[in-house]
Amino acid sequence: MGMGMGGMKAWLMLVVVTGILVPVECMYMVYNTSQGIVPGKLNVHLVPHTHDDVGWLKTIDQYYVGSNNSIQGACVQNVLDSLWPALLANKDRKFIYGFFQRWWRDQSETVQSIVQQLVSSGQLELINGGYCMHDEATVHYIDMIDQTTLGHRFIKAEFNVTPRIGWQIDPFGHSAVQAYLLSAEVGFDSLFFGRIDYQDRAKRKDEKSLEVIWQGSKSLGSSAQVFAGAFPENYEPPSGFYFEVDDESPVVQDNINLFDYNVQERVNDFVAAALSQANITRTNHIMWTMGTDFKYQYAHTWYRNMDKLIHYVNQDGRVNALYSTPSIYTDAKYATNESWPFKTGDFFPYADRINAYWTGYFTSRPALKGYVRSMSGYYLAARQLEFFTGRRKSGPSTESLAEALAIAQHHDAVSGTEKQHVADDYAKRLSIGYKESEQLVAASLACITESSQKGCSNPVTKFEQCPLINISYCPASEANLSDGKTLVVVVYNALGWNRDDTVRIPVSIVDLVTSESVAVQDSNGKIIQSQLVPISNASLRMRNSYAKAYEESYSSVTPKFWLVFTAAVPPLGFNTYFISNFKGAATSVRQTLYKSEGSQNDTIQVGPGNLKLIYSADGKLIQYVNSETLVNESVEQSYSFYAGDDGSVDFQASGAYIFRPNGSFPINGDGKSLTVFQGPLLDEVHQTFDSWISQITRVYKGKDHAEFEFTVGPIPVDDRIGKEVVTKITTTMKSNKTFFTDSSGRDFIERIRDYRADWDLQVNQPVAGNYYPINLGTYMKDDKSELSILVDRSVGGSSIIDGQLELMLHRRLLYDDSRGVAEALNETVCVLDECLGLTIQGKYYLKIDPLGEGAKWRRSFGQEIYSPCLLAFAEQDGNNWTSSHIPTFSAMAPSYSLPDNVALITLQELEDGKALLRLAHLYEVGEDKTLSAMASVELIKLFPNKKINKVTEMNLSANQERAEMLKKRLIWKVEGSPADDYPRGGPVDQTKLVVELAPMEIRTFAVQFQFD
Ligand SMILES: [Zn+2]
Repeated sequence: MGMGMGGMKAWLMLVVVTGILVPVECMYMVYNTSQGIVPGKLNVHLVPHTHDDVGWLKTIDQYYVGSNNSIQGACVQNVLDSLWPALLANKDRKFIYGFFQRWWRDQSETVQSIVQQLVSSGQLELINGGYCMHDEATVHYIDMIDQTTLGHRFIKAEFNVTPRIGWQIDPFGHSAVQAYLLSAEVGFDSLFFGRIDYQDRAKRKDEKSLEVIWQGSKSLGSSAQVFAGAFPENYEPPSGFYFEVDDESPVVQDNINLFDYNVQERVNDFVAAALSQANITRTNHIMWTMGTDFKYQYAHTWYRNMDKLIHYVNQDGRVNALYSTPSIYTDAKYATNESWPFKTGDFFPYADRINAYWTGYFTSRPALKGYVRSMSGYYLAARQLEFFTGRRKSGPSTESLAEALAIAQHHDAVSGTEKQHVADDYAKRLSIGYKESEQLVAASLACITESSQKGCSNPVTKFEQCPLINISYCPASEANLSDGKTLVVVVYNALGWNRDDTVRIPVSIVDLVTSESVAVQDSNGKIIQSQLVPISNASLRMRNSYAKAYEESYSSVTPKFWLVFTAAVPPLGFNTYFISNFKGAATSVRQTLYKSEGSQNDTIQVGPGNLKLIYSADGKLIQYVNSETLVNESVEQSYSFYAGDDGSVDFQASGAYIFRPNGSFPINGDGKSLTVFQGPLLDEVHQTFDSWISQITRVYKGKDHAEFEFTVGPIPVDDRIGKEVVTKITTTMKSNKTFFTDSSGRDFIERIRDYRADWDLQVNQPVAGNYYPINLGTYMKDDKSELSILVDRSVGGSSIIDGQLELMLHRRLLYDDSRGVAEALNETVCVLDECLGLTIQGKYYLKIDPLGEGAKWRRSFGQEIYSPCLLAFAEQDGNNWTSSHIPTFSAMAPSYSLPDNVALITLQELEDGKALLRLAHLYEVGEDKTLSAMASVELIKLFPNKKINKVTEMNLSANQERAEMLKKRLIWKVEGSPADDYPRGGPVDQTKLVVELAPMEIRTFAVQFQFD
């Protein structure tokens, strides 16, 4: 304070001496900005920040370099380039930032060392610290963990710090998994966010409960809770305190010599805004988020004004202003010893005002969502294979897929709320990452299959993979085998347990005229049962239009059949199958065909095993019967669409973010006809609901669930009405307004229609306001059974009437919903010269179990959906594959597999040669009678061929030892929280090497091996 006053006096004296009012050279003013927290005063924590989306209106590259500025004047390089000199200019100034690998790599050593200094002094605090600020509704928890780990480990390596703060200021609602896994288990002391429901926010302001202790997990309870703060409005400064060069807020003009001197006004504004926020906040600490999207491109204007505000506000003395960070703020809150309100569950769905539920984005861009999910599963498998054969110094790796996937978790990426050209950019990055990982996978599999012959340096086997197999495009499997060649199929299983899975590949080798066919042999040369199923017209249409666009060497020969067989694959390993031309009795069975045109009187029964689906004579699903579990339930399945509101009433249209339905309409089409193919392995029901909706329902012999493969699109919009397409499963179950949806693919949360646990809900959107994000699945129950649906990507869904579940599969809309993206969500695909609305193909799965018995399928099969078997193809002359290749492989000890309630969610080799290992218990407390129990994994059997030197338990993001994290953890006081005792697995003995896992526990280890 003395310094500042001294400067002022010197200037006044100079004026007196010279006696004239001209600008004077030595009017340099020093502001006192060193103020810390003052007990007994209201402390206003000014937290300077910018919010730099890694893609939204522009691509990540365009934002970084500052191009395409006609869309948005934003340049992240400008922000970071101007930031460090501004921080150097005054050591009291602070800033927070999430992640800046790209900028960092562009800097000179001098700048890097300055920035390292700023980080270690705490002037520049790295918060959140993942690759991006991930979405929380449409992301899978494994992706959240991976992208956070990638960022945290980079920050640890370059700056030797571990971020303390969760900073999820922009995602559109907040998940329980974010609170307990990605905050508490990562080691965050607090979690801050901007967007919660407007009704919830109003009540929390009244009750001063914007800041809570959030316990996101029933199973981990208080052992994984976090201090969580919702901002009073958003993540911007209070109105009137924006200081970007072109902002309209009045700058602090403190030169008495110039016109418009406004110090007292600005101080009064500041104090008023602070007192108003203090009215809704507990303790004498409030936080001002000083910044917003892509601000601080010229950081000096912000700091110049904040320097002055701190100086003059503290001179005024009514409140205390200080430069701060969320860490300083959190520590100040903690030091007050206050008890905080208790929060369970999550913050979904989010509405920012009446009729504006942000529940459309749960489904927006379903193709991108599906692509992200399938790449996520592939990345998990590819890292395992990379681990088995060892990371290479050069050559293909999984790194570019890791980065592409990390960026794709951003809250304007997989969420589907970006402009079209940006969505294309994310997909392109994923594709580039996939291509590189595909080479790595092929080389690793070649290595392992050949390893009995020679080392792994130069494998000769060339494996091909088929990323477009979902649209029946697979050049490798469609090869002509008439000249005695054999198609080799290696089926890799990334799960930690044995698996019998159905393999389905397109073949063009079947000649209906000569009745030439194919046979499938297992690795012992024994012919196994296989079945040929016709490829549907909808699939062939997709194939024909897209394969041309993707592949230059497009084959004009179209396969007619799927070849289906059951592969038995060991855990973390593969099995090999051989397909060759064959004449005779042992060939694949071509199914019997049953066509209904609505004329028959009898019902139609479908399913070769325990499960039968019964269809009415007019082609409608009516009954689900399982002869073993004795489940017998009336079930109907239908499609309908919500008309997207055009915004003509109150300017709120349905769009990329917001679901604003204007009426619901059934899609009847000609659903009366169905075609049934029956065979020994599976039955298929082919149905067309409209010219743009077709479906294949599959019932497998060895599986007790039904699989629905839908093809939806192009959604017709020539009536100028946007449409949001849903499928509904309708039963007579008395579900009593209650259903369950997963939190980011992990815990299931109870949802009650038209109800919120935290406040008295005013219902204004009875459909959109009851929508929830679904990543794994949803279920409902009554007093005798439970009906579960699992999904292959994130979708929105609900139970709008009792006994019914619905999923939104696709949406095509014609108006922007006024949340900034400024585009209608109207995805079109152009192949050659033809542009059509996007067609979606995807799957969901249905099972009905006796009450209390559904969890096992939801958890185990859910893991199979996430990690489908990876198929690799090779061609072989004759039958000598097994003389030169290993046909079966498991990385685990013979006959060992993980317990049924444990999944291996990460196995990867780190840069230092250690293995990063993550094991996840899949069940919540009380979820299953037997599987919700403590589980144990024997590391010696998980790594039978390596000698383990040391196992170190890490925090979830693997940037510190878990013990270190626990030592630092803040223990908060909670109002009226129940006393609890939540089990955790015990420490790992370094000789026994057994890992215990309690329900819902995820444990992360760095495993060091001995290399001889
Ligand atoms: Zn954002």
